[in-house]
Amino acid sequence: MNDMRTISVKAPAKINLTLDVLGKRADGYHEVEMVMTTVDLSDRLELTVLDTDEIRIQSEHAYVPNDHRNLAYRAAELLRKRFGIKQGVEIVLDKQIPVAAGLAGGSSDAAATLRGMNDLFDLGLSLEELAELGAAVGSDVSFCVMGGTAIARGRGEQLETIPSPPPCYVVLAKPKIGVSTADVYRAVEMEKIVHPNTEAMVTAIRDRDFDGICSNLGNALEAVTLELHPEVRQIKETMLHCGADGVLMSGSGPTVFALIEHEQKAHRVYNGLKGFCPEVFVVRILGKKH
Ligand code: ATP
Repeated sequence: MNDMRTISVKAPAKINLTLDVLGKRADGYHEVEMVMTTVDLSDRLELTVLDTDEIRIQSEHAYVPNDHRNLAYRAAELLRKRFGIKQGVEIVLDKQIPVAAGLAGGSSDAAATLRGMNDLFDLGLSLEELAELGAAVGSDVSFCVMGGTAIARGRGEQLETIPSPPPCYVVLAKPKIGVSTADVYRAVEMEKIVHPNTEAMVTAIRDRDFDGICSNLGNALEAVTLELHPEVRQIKETMLHCGADGVLMSGSGPTVFALIEHEQKAHRVYNGLKGFCPEVFVVRILGKKH
């Protein structure tokens, strides 16, 4: 019998260095191609084995559901059903990642639940196997299981791991509004899309070419979200004005991130935004896979 009945797991946020929408699929999802990387802004999950058969979610956050709508709940339920786990699990969620922000907070919590329960219940699954299972919970869950940097294709679940970008500072700023990913995809008009150059981004990353990374940042959803929420543009402009090397909206937004090579400038960008943005963070890119 395993004595370790509680385990603590970190769930880092992701940012999109590119996000391209290639078309609409028969299943209602969009075909995407994205370069994603994890940053060191993380939720913390504490998983405890329960003797009853329930899945219990505890979170202080007002906008995070405590029931089956929580992606961590769904991940736990999936593993329990698939592997016939009799015991339940309590998941205490310490949310640090802004919610409905384009940073995959919910997906990362689901991924951390998969990794944590794999250890807690000695399931012996590889990260690849967990990533494949995670796709049923959400499109970004597979990437969040693996971490590091990857090109994601399909609806986001097909991953090709690539080296991580050279170290730099990342300032994240989320305006007050939350954005529903589904709403943004619904508003996409394929013929209006401005496609990022994914190949050029990947080449810049492989060459450790920081300027090339900054000049190839691109997100096909940015124009859609900007139309709905003009304050996103204001954040981008402020970041550039304060000396950011490159700026982009992450995912379906509304969080905007700045890539910055030098620490002093990172703090200047942070200070420039702190006044009118409720959630601002200075973080680093996480180089490693899990
Ligand atoms: P993505 O970048 O993958 O679109 P996001 O950062 O935009 O994700 P999330 O923070 O993951 O969005 O959450 C979006 C919605 O999902 C929330 O409004 C919330 O109701 C629900 N949700 C479910 N589980 C969680 C969770 N563990 N943490 C936060 N939100 C969750």
